[in-house]
Amino acid sequence: MRELNKVIAACPPSGIRRFFDIAAEMDDVISLGVGEPDFVTPWRVREAGIYALEQGYTTYTSNAGLPQLRELICADLAKRYGADYDPGGECLITTGVSEGLDLALRVLLNPGDEVIVPEPCYVAYEPCVAFAGGTPVRVPTRWEDGFAVDAEVVAAAITPRTKAILIGSPANPTGAVQPRAALEALVRLAEEHDLYLVSDEIYDRLTYTGGHTCLGTLPGARERTVLLGGFSKAHAMTGWRVGWICAPAAVAELAVRVHQYTMLCAPHISQLAAVEALSAPDDEVDAMVADYDRRRRVFVKGLRETGLDCPEPGGAFYAFPSIRSSGMDSETFAERLLHAEHVAVVPGSVFGPSGEGHVRCSYATALPLLEEALVRIDRFLRSSAAG
Ligand code: PLP
Repeated sequence: MRELNKVIAACPPSGIRRFFDIAAEMDDVISLGVGEPDFVTPWRVREAGIYALEQGYTTYTSNAGLPQLRELICADLAKRYGADYDPGGECLITTGVSEGLDLALRVLLNPGDEVIVPEPCYVAYEPCVAFAGGTPVRVPTRWEDGFAVDAEVVAAAITPRTKAILIGSPANPTGAVQPRAALEALVRLAEEHDLYLVSDEIYDRLTYTGGHTCLGTLPGARERTVLLGGFSKAHAMTGWRVGWICAPAAVAELAVRVHQYTMLCAPHISQLAAVEALSAPDDEVDAMVADYDRRRRVFVKGLRETGLDCPEPGGAFYAFPSIRSSGMDSETFAERLLHAEHVAVVPGSVFGPSGEGHVRCSYATALPLLEEALVRIDRFLRSSAAG
């Protein structure tokens, strides 16, 4: 048979899935592996989806998405961050941030363009750059710096081919929230070298130790920033598949062009559910965030008590403890922990070389399970040290 697409064939399958597959075969597993809320979508939002079905909203919407939803998203960004996006020409509803990321990169890149990707980072960033014809260029971040992106390190990676910088904050897998100053330095760099910024802000609502900075609102950033957001995390809506892009009109227009041919529109009933999610007060989101924060405190404290060094995660719902004191690499640690104690975590190395020496634990898990996981991790560390 003829050769299949080289870029896709060269892309390894997600390292996260491999651990899920092993865990799925085992009994009594506590999974801290999944990056999704353990809450069900708030009832009134589900009800809006049910009602949308009852009313027969089973058709396509306009390509860019329901005007009402775009208006609500832009109004929400304006209220929350002072952002200024036109729902008519600068906002597009996507099937999750996953599609938004893909569209952004396809619109920005020509073959061979380089995209600087600070790592450890979300597993889709590098493959999506490559699928869009670009070349991902990793730059490290260090846990000693709270995984803040260092503009000098980024500057050193810039070449004449560099087209964009892709960042996620709050971050998966580290839970790091980029300090405003770090983002401002990136914007200055982008201005200096005429680069785009792709900002994945899917966890913007999930911050615990300080506020989130919306990149598109920083001086000089707006015209070169593609902002990605969605409903999956804060509204516990992963399965509904709704997200959005806000970007300057020229970028948004081309994103709609790709979207209209490849996706047509995001699911109609999901868009109507998302309208409901943004229409009422934020009580449910606030309650979920408060709950994540409670779990975060208990879990991080517990990890530290087992002897693992754990940087304070300021956002998202991941702890990213150092497991260096165990003497194991992250893959071995995760595999042995799973087999010995039936606790699934994700090796930090799957998120990039700077993730080595860490494991990602999702605390979007019920508190009693987190407490039991801590007991098991402690037992595992003691028996590993004894053995
Ligand atoms: N970006 C980050 C950083 C994520 O962690 C995830 C999902 O885990 C996504 C994007 C994908 O989100 P969506 O469900 O909106 O496609």
